[in-house]
Amino acid sequence: MSAKSKALALKQFVPQEFCLKCRGCCRFKEADSVWSPCLLEEEIQMLLDKKGIPVASISIDRRIQPVPNPAGADFLCPFLETAGNQCRIYAFRPFECQLYPFLINFRKGKVLLTVDLNCPYVYEHINSQEAKDYIAYLADYLNSSTLRSLLKDNPQIIQAYEEVREVAEISLPDEIK
Ligand code: SF4
Repeated sequence: MSAKSKALALKQFVPQEFCLKCRGCCRFKEADSVWSPCLLEEEIQMLLDKKGIPVASISIDRRIQPVPNPAGADFLCPFLETAGNQCRIYAFRPFECQLYPFLINFRKGKVLLTVDLNCPYVYEHINSQEAKDYIAYLADYLNSSTLRSLLKDNPQIIQAYEEVREVAEISLPDEIK
């Protein structure tokens, strides 16, 4: 396993039992939603080469390509198993999926760690000591040399998400300023 791969096992903030009951994630209003997970280059290679997923599952802008929901008007991640509300590639799920409801944001020339308060668990717990500790953990992690290198190699995952709350600043690698 490479140093980068080892670095991508993030501690999770939202308990798994809460996620399994919530039907908010992995579903999108549009097929080209900005909320569909953006992939790192090594994730694209791993999913295509080792997991044998169809090329059509990845959009031209390096996102997971949502598919129409046969039971509704929205769109679903093709890896979502809707009956059990589970991710079929959970052990290999993308970095952005591990990070959510936290996101890496570019705003006013700064790279920021932000949080999406549409997640009901984080909405309830954002002011807790648990959340403060987790944000400190994530900020340290994202400011590490390994993650700075990852951001330099994958600027596509630094997005301009709207309506998210800023919680910490991330050092911007010189190469992508
Ligand atoms: S890859 Fe898994 S965790 Fe990520 S959006 Fe798809 S179903 Fe959800």
